[in-house]
Parts: sequence; C-alpha cells; structure tokens
Amino acid sequence: MANPAEKDTTDKNVTAIRGKVLSSQSELDPKDRPLEEFADWCQQRGHIVVLKSGMILTSDPTSRDVQNCKTMLINRGIRPGRVMAATEELVTLLLANVAPDEDQKEAKETTSISSQQQRLRLLIQEAVNENVSDIHIEVRPDVARIRFRKFGEMYVHAEWFPRLGREIASVAFNKETDHATAHFNPLVPQDASMPLEVNGNDVRLRLASMPAHGGFDVVMRILGVGDQAKIVTLEDLGYTPEQAYIIKRAVQMPHGAVLLSGPTGSGKTTTLASCMGLVKSSRKVYTIEDPVEKVVPTVTQVPVNSDKDDRSFASFGRAALRMDPDYIVLGEMRDEATVNVMVRAAITGHLVFSTVHTNSATGIITRLVDMGVSRSMLCDGSVLVALIFQRLVAKLCEHCAQPITEALQHKPHMERWEAAFGDLSTIRARGQSCKHCHNTGVGGRTVVAEVVWVDEPSREFIGNGDVIGWEKYLKSQGWKTYKERALELVMEGVVDPFDAETLIGEISQHTDESGFDYNAIRQEMEAADKRTKQ
Ligand SMILES: [Zn+2]
Repeated sequence: MANPAEKDTTDKNVTAIRGKVLSSQSELDPKDRPLEEFADWCQQRGHIVVLKSGMILTSDPTSRDVQNCKTMLINRGIRPGRVMAATEELVTLLLANVAPDEDQKEAKETTSISSQQQRLRLLIQEAVNENVSDIHIEVRPDVARIRFRKFGEMYVHAEWFPRLGREIASVAFNKETDHATAHFNPLVPQDASMPLEVNGNDVRLRLASMPAHGGFDVVMRILGVGDQAKIVTLEDLGYTPEQAYIIKRAVQMPHGAVLLSGPTGSGKTTTLASCMGLVKSSRKVYTIEDPVEKVVPTVTQVPVNSDKDDRSFASFGRAALRMDPDYIVLGEMRDEATVNVMVRAAITGHLVFSTVHTNSATGIITRLVDMGVSRSMLCDGSVLVALIFQRLVAKLCEHCAQPITEALQHKPHMERWEAAFGDLSTIRARGQSCKHCHNTGVGGRTVVAEVVWVDEPSREFIGNGDVIGWEKYLKSQGWKTYKERALELVMEGVVDPFDAETLIGEISQHTDESGFDYNAIRQEMEAADKRTKQ
C-alpha cells in the first residue's frame, strides 16, 4: 500500500505534496474502514483517523499526532500507510462510523440523533456534488452498502456498519420528510418526499423503501436541484442538428401537438424542459407535472397527484385551458381523459406537449388510437405537429475508453461486428480501473432519438393505419430510426457496441429489419462450430 518514496514525507508538507484534500468517502477504497483498536484514541483527538490499510487521514497534517500515530502503529506491528489530508467533515464522518464500545453505546445513543441528521445531509451533499441521480442504501446483517447511480450505472460509494444504515434510514423517514409523523418501518414498503437545502440550493428527494432478505433497501432519488438545474440544449442532450431543427420548428408552431415517447427514465422530462427553454418569454406556459422535477423559472408549473381524480393530469389540463395559455405541457398521457384534453388543446389553437410510453415514434399513433382517439381526428391538419421517440445510452468515459480490438470481453463478438460495420478502427469499448468514472467506463449519457415531422403524406398513412408503409415513406425521405442513430454512435466511437445492443438488440448484418436472413445465421453458426472443434 505505502509507496516508499512517500513514506518519509514529513508531516508539515503532506498537503503541499499531495496538493489534494480528500472530501468524500467515494475517494477511498470502500472496503477500507477505520481501524477499531485506534478508534478511541482517534475520537479523543477528533482530527485524525486510521484506516485498516494503515492509511492515515487527518484534517490537521501539521499536528504531532500524525507522527505519534505512526509510532503507535509500528509498535503494534502495523505498517503505517500514506498520510492524506482530509476535510474535517470526512474525518468526523469516518470517526462516527467506527463501532463504539459496548459500554459507551448507551451514552451515545441519546445524543446521536442530530449527528445522524448531519451524516444524512453529508451523504446527500456528496451525492449532489457528484451529480448522482439515486442513492441506494442496502442494509443487510453484516453491512450497509451505500451505492450511487450516475449516468445509469451503479457503483459503491461507501460501506457502513448495518446499525448506521438503519439509523440513517429512520432519520431520513422520521425527521426529514414532509410528513414526519410517519414512522419508518423496514418491514413494509414506504415512500416519502424530502425537501432539503444543499450548497444553498433547494433539493427535493423522493424516498422509497422495500424490505429485503436480511434487511431492507432505501432508495433516494434526487429530483431537481433548485434553480441551478440549468436547461441544456437539445444538441447537448444528443439530438442531431437536423432533429433539433425539427423540434425547434415545432416549438414555433402556433398550435398542434408535439408528442414525446420513450420508456421510464429515458430523459423525456429533460427534453421537455429544453423545449420550454426555447419558448419566447412573451408566451404563457402551463406545465402539468407529477411531480415537478426541474424548475423552469419562466413557466407556471402545476404539480398533480395522479392518485386523486380532482388533481389529475386531465382535470388540471382542462383547468389550464381556462387560464389563457399559449402552451400546455401535459406531463404524461396515461388515460383517455388526458388524451382528450391534449386533442382539445391542439384543435382550440394551443401548442400542447405531452409524453406517452411507446417503443417508436410511429408507435405513438397506435397508442393514441388504443386510448380512444379516432384516426380521422389524428389526420386533422391542426392536431399533430411532430412525434419524437427517445432513449438514453451510456457514453464512453473519455479518460479510459479503449480501441475495441484491445477489449478482452469484446473478443468473442468481433467477427460479427466486423461483418456488420466493415471497419472496426474507429469503434471503442469501455475501459476499466479509472478514477474519473468510478470504474464504470461511462462518462455520461446521450439521447438516441427518432423525430418525425407529420407532413401531408404522413397524415394519409396515419388515416389508413399503415405504419409499415409510413416508415418506408419516411426512410425514402432520408429519415433515420433510433436504431440507425445508435449504430452511428458506435461507429463514431462514442458508444460501446455492448451498450448499443442493450437498446437495439444484437448488431448483425443478417438481422436487418427489412429481411431477417435465417440461412446466413445458420451458416454462421456452423462456421463458428467448426472453428471451435478444430
Ligand atoms: Zn473512465
């Protein structure tokens, strides 16, 4: 662990040499915990903590305690590790995480409540600083594992003693939520909402818990981070320039419907916020949301409660129509009543935005028909303007992406991809062991989308219910499906082919949608079989 060149570093210049002060548990090896036999000594001092690896963290690197600590370690037969400067908060957190001696337990329990609240806040602050979307607390008999989700990928942030995990979960539910009267019970699923101030910004968290074998899970989703949640452009989200052009053109239309589809967690809310960012300030916008996730200052955002009829998307949408709107955003169309509000808003001269769950842009029509809208209504020139389908895919971390030819896990699939892409020289794969991406190999996410401008011929296909003919027509006009877009991103070295395949299925030259080639696949299998036998 200890680097010989660093071992003789005098305490005074520790900070200068490192030039870095540790501030988060995620910067440490999650398995490396405070050394229990030194806990008392460290807690008395308050600014120093020794980890099991021998690493010494201190918020006061010039203190004599650092040298004393090294001597004590050597006397116990433990080799001192690196000395690292750390923030006071991190040292306090680590010290508090050491299991107290049994006889001290009683005394501490009475005073620990506010310190647990502090610790919860610190955890959330760390998550917000790291741009995390969800915090998972997994409490089991031997460990409480804290995992973060960022860009869709999970990684271990810290490992706590189970007792601390249980305390933090109770504090979160019992002390910090909107309805703090509810008592946290790990044996039943519970949910709550928590407002909090982090770094001077309002943060809202949605909490959910679930019992698990040997313990329970708590998941905290971090919703809008106050006014700081800046609106990103469509291009930054990953829309191609021509797709962004179509959407911007749609936003300028005087009336009609712009419909956005994609599975849960595909970034629809962010895209809607970007669209609203394009609206001129001389226009009045109502957004009906469940819940309000991103604060858009120029817009009236109305939170609905989908469990209650009188506060549903449909009833608030109808109410918004009486409020002199130019634009209406209906968060989601889940029922016939909401779809009717969408159609009524469009034909009465408003521009309406809404989302729906489908697996393609053209599939939006099928879904609307399923929910009770007539085809003749959908062909009406004043109703549909544009249809958007989007998904999110992991982008490679720029610091550790490697040429695909060097990636071991990808080797067995190389021939298939070579046949599909022809040239693999620009294609890259996820790397490993990189501190920038917490070893996930992922550096962000990008939208993979298809955007349809509903023109006259399209209306005819919609009226006839001919989706296949419609898609053929669109392709003849140069339109690209999201699958084609995903393949482009692989070719550009932006997306790992494995990640693209989680979205679009196996990439192969024989499985093109226009003709699935059974014979070619059979021959390929036989060839592979022969190779393994040789
Ligand atoms: Zn990386």
